[in-house]
Parts: sequence; C-alpha cells; structure tokens
Amino acid sequence: MCRQVVKIYQTTTGRVQAVRGVDLEIDAGTATAIVGPSGSGKSSLLRMIAGLDEPTVGSIEIAGEDLFARNGRARAARRSALVTHVYQRPSDNLIEHLSARQILQRQRRGAGCPTPDEALHALALTDRGDHRPSMLSGGEQQRLALARAMVVGHPLVIADEPTAQLDPAGALAVLDAIDVLAARGTTVIVATHDDRVLPRMTQVVTLREGSVGSITHAGTELAVIDRSGRLQLPPEIRERFAGRRARLEWDAAREVIEVSRP
Ligand code: ADP
Repeated sequence: MCRQVVKIYQTTTGRVQAVRGVDLEIDAGTATAIVGPSGSGKSSLLRMIAGLDEPTVGSIEIAGEDLFARNGRARAARRSALVTHVYQRPSDNLIEHLSARQILQRQRRGAGCPTPDEALHALALTDRGDHRPSMLSGGEQQRLALARAMVVGHPLVIADEPTAQLDPAGALAVLDAIDVLAARGTTVIVATHDDRVLPRMTQVVTLREGSVGSITHAGTELAVIDRSGRLQLPPEIRERFAGRRARLEWDAAREVIEVSRP
C-alpha cells in the first residue's frame, strides 16, 4: 500500500522530514493501528494514505488504485469514493439535524451497498435509527460514523483516535464495530494512543522519527529492516550503542544472528 513514502515540509525555518521512507503492506479486511510518540509522523502518514496530502516521494495505493496519479477534482472525487474519515470528536462526524437512519439514507451509494437498516443492525444501532446525533452517546456516534462507511461502500476507513473520548463500554462497542467492518472486507486504519485498542488490531505499526520502527502481528513485535538493510532499534536499545557501531555474528547457516556491542 505504501512504497518508500517520504514527506518533507518546507517551513520558514527550513525543511522538516516528517516521514522517511515508509513501506507498508495492509491487507484488505484487516485492522491496523498506527502508534508512536507525538511528532513521529502518524498524522502526516495518515493524511497521505487518506489522499489528503501528496507524498514528496513514493507511492500509495488504495484498493489497488494510485490516488496521486490524478490531480485536483479527479483526485478528490476518487478520494471521496474510497475513503471514510472518522474523527476523534464524535460530533465532528455527523450531520446534526438528521436522524441516524436519514444520515445513512442520504449517503447510501447504489444497490450493492447495505441498506441503512442493515448497517444499523450490523453495528448494534437498530434502536437508535430515529435518534439525531445529539441524542446518541459518543460511542454510538462513532459507530454511526462507521455505519456510514458501510452504506457508502468505501474500502478504506481511517479513524483518528476513535476511542479517545469514550468510556470503556463505548470504546468496546466501537472496537466491535471495527471488527464487523473488517470482517466485511473493509480495511480499517486507526491512529491511537489507546492501549485498549491495540490487542484488537490485526497489526500494530510503530513509527519512530518518521520510519517504521516495528510491526506487531498476532502479539509478536518484529523489528523492520528497510530496503537498504537498516534495522531500526528501539530508543532504549539504541542508547546502549553509544558509539553507533554494532558487532554482528552469525552461524554457518546464517539463521542465528547476534548483535552485540563491540
Ligand atoms: P504525529 O502525528 O506523530 O504527532 P506529525 O505527522 O504531526 O506527527 O508530525 C511529524 C513532524 O512533522 C513533526 O516534527 C511536525 O512538527 C512536522 N509537521 C507536521 N505537519 C507539518 C506541516 N504542515 N508543516 C511543517 N511541519 C509539519
């Protein structure tokens, strides 16, 4: 999905390299969390995956399509046919004066997509169909925003801290809704600091200083070796190599490799 993606911002005080060559494969129908300290490049990467901002270098494909091969209106049109954005503040996601069912009715695209009632049912909102967003809890509003992705038939949902403002029950229900979407083939990418979210994801990608530091798959954290053979070490390990040199030793079969201080 992301090939060697670089993002450089030009500012009055110089250039900021926010994303430094990210390669990322995200399968359809999976849920991925992007985590990392503030300033590690999460928002920059997500804005590019959402098609809102162009990579300085590299390419991004969404559902097999290179959004940045197009310009202006054509790109905006494809973006709005492919990506649903779910914002952190539940009320930012919804049109206020309509009921939940009306919001979904307005957005439904084509007979191939679930009906509003099917989407409400799938995300456990059946008895909330006649409520306006202001009458829904934060968790219900977030689920309604996810239901919108279903009726629109978008292959990709990008959610920015979707559980940050929710209580435990609300967060759990949103995570269940993400599972429902992923099981239906939607790809969900979540930026989060919320530890409740991580165990529920197919993979967790940790960014460090604009690069992918590690990827956790099914509970196992793996360091990532980039195309030039560079291995990103976690900061707490890196600081033990003050001289920035490491000794590598391997056995004859090159299966066991040891990294130690010289
Ligand atoms: P995160 O979401 O992990 O906090 P960001 O992607 O927001 O990280 O930021 C990564 C780096 O890029 C930071 O150093 C930030 O100051 C810088 N940055 C982000 N957006 C811009 C911008 N529009 N112009 C200049 N610098 C930016």
